[in-house]
Amino acid sequence: MTDAVATLDATPFALFRVRVLGIRRVGPNIHRFTFTGPDLAHFADNGFDQRIKLVFPLPGVGLTAMPPGPDWYGQWRELPDHLRNPLRTYTVRAVRPELEQLDVDFAVHGRVGVASAWAFDAAPGDELVVVGPDRRFRGRHGGIDFVPPAHTGRYLLAGDETALPAIASVLERLPADACGAAVLEVADAADAAALPIGPLGMDVTVLGRDGREPGAALVPAVQRAAGLLCAGRSCARVDLEDVDVDSGMLWEVPTDEQGEALQDNTDLYAWLAGEAGVIKTLRRHLVAERGLDRRSVAFMGYWRQGRQEAN
Ligand SMILES: Cc1cc2nc3c(=O)[nH]c(=O)nc-3n(C[C@H](O)[C@H](O)[C@H](O)COP(=O)(O)OP(=O)(O)OC[C@H]3O[C@@H](n4cnc5c(N)ncnc54)[C@H](O)[C@@H]3O)c2cc1C
Repeated sequence: MTDAVATLDATPFALFRVRVLGIRRVGPNIHRFTFTGPDLAHFADNGFDQRIKLVFPLPGVGLTAMPPGPDWYGQWRELPDHLRNPLRTYTVRAVRPELEQLDVDFAVHGRVGVASAWAFDAAPGDELVVVGPDRRFRGRHGGIDFVPPAHTGRYLLAGDETALPAIASVLERLPADACGAAVLEVADAADAAALPIGPLGMDVTVLGRDGREPGAALVPAVQRAAGLLCAGRSCARVDLEDVDVDSGMLWEVPTDEQGEALQDNTDLYAWLAGEAGVIKTLRRHLVAERGLDRRSVAFMGYWRQGRQEAN
């Protein structure tokens, strides 16, 4: 089928059947999975923090019960528990449609969840389904939350190892003259090997957690970076409503219904993602204490300590 014909019924996101081509340890706790499969010729290369869903096999069932086609989601929801494959959210680290390849960086954290256990035991040839952007769809795919205003003075990127793939991709696609700071907390500082060299004006700091609680290194480092980036700005304290990160998602992304930035100009655009409780602490600091304009800051809880991802 040609791309022109396929466009007629293409949906923004499609199911891509893939198998593991290779696994490379790019850092002590970051495993880069390269997936392959003919469907990937149609995977859109949108960059930035393009999110995808990975569909994991069930013991004894594999992926055989996964409904195919554009209406898969409704059918999947109707399946009984023992046949409903678990989904987890990940980020496209790189895609090479011409080679039918997709890279996803897994931050491995033991055998505690479906995804991390799968990543721990996976081997070349293992199969997965990816729910990702279909380049035959002519329109905005969605799933990108890094949406800075067209005229952005400085950037502040911050997150933990789950946000490392997104921050790496953003660093690769920022304009060469971009400036600001990227602050990461990872399990081991050597995981920084998974980061590319970004624009010279981006000051990149990677801190090892070294067995401490999530946020122990990130929170003070982001506060310091924000202090430098905000120096000289007028700062109005703002009353901030609370977010319960145990019963809901922390997901505040300043875009309009078309997915566009809410402003044309900002002197500082911030993007933060990681453990929800840590991001909530940083939200309070940046918005309530430093008075950052909420129209130019994105806060995303990528995971929650002690809670599995809700499907
Ligand atoms: C938009 C988005 C993009 C993401 N991109 C990536 C990515 O590219 N790479 C990546 O590795 N992760 C990424 N994540 C995070 C990932 O989805 C979660 O870590 C997910 O919970 C992992 O699933 P699991 O099955 O291993 O654990 P779950 O079954 O969801 O949880 C089981 C237990 O593991 C704990 N847990 C979950 N994640 C972690 C962690 N990272 N460290 C320690 N404990 C954890 C939970 O608190 C829970 O107690 C992303 C999340 C979102 C929302």
